Amino acid sequence: MGSIAIHPSVDGGRKQQAGSFAGGTLVCECVTNPVKVRVKSDIAHNHACGCTKCWKPKGANFSVVAVAPTDSVEVLENGDKLAVVDASALIQRHACKACGVHLYGPVERDHPFKGLSFIHPERFQDEGWAEPGFAAFVSSIIESGFDPSGMDDVRARLKELGLEPYDCLNPALMDYIATWTAKKNGVLPA
Ligand SMILES: [Zn+2]
Ligand SMILES: [Zn+2]
Repeated sequence: MGSIAIHPSVDGGRKQQAGSFAGGTLVCECVTNPVKVRVKSDIAHNHACGCTKCWKPKGANFSVVAVAPTDSVEVLENGDKLAVVDASALIQRHACKACGVHLYGPVERDHPFKGLSFIHPERFQDEGWAEPGFAAFVSSIIESGFDPSGMDDVRARLKELGLEPYDCLNPALMDYIATWTAKKNGVLPA
């Protein structure tokens, strides 16, 4: 079971949860002229994600992805190498055209996640960010070609790593989205 490649940042066992993180600089994989993006705040909701849209390092079945306020995200260097992967997607994932790493993905549409950017904390050149706390869109790894008969082992391994598996988002984020929708529709007081 330990042989299932969840993600390199958790496969060796999770480290101690960090206290606070003041932000850092995300760097792509390019050896020359890497794209550098500064995040001037802590990150939130870090998790493993099995969807087919998130950037995953080679061999990993999951991405590790978190959010930061878009206001605190700033491209520092080589921004000319960035392009939006899918302009029609909710998350405007900005990827390096040379190495493929996603640097940041702002949500600009009217949505509960508006104002947040999705980032991959493993690309921080700085230590201290909070470890992933759960696993989202677990069943979606099948859409990337994972053998469906191995899913019990995947979920067992995620639990062993302390990453509770969900096939959508975790209850905290699902409730957050539903609350936003209820307020927008006037079902709950704004
Ligand atoms: Zn690159
Ligand atoms: Zn994802």
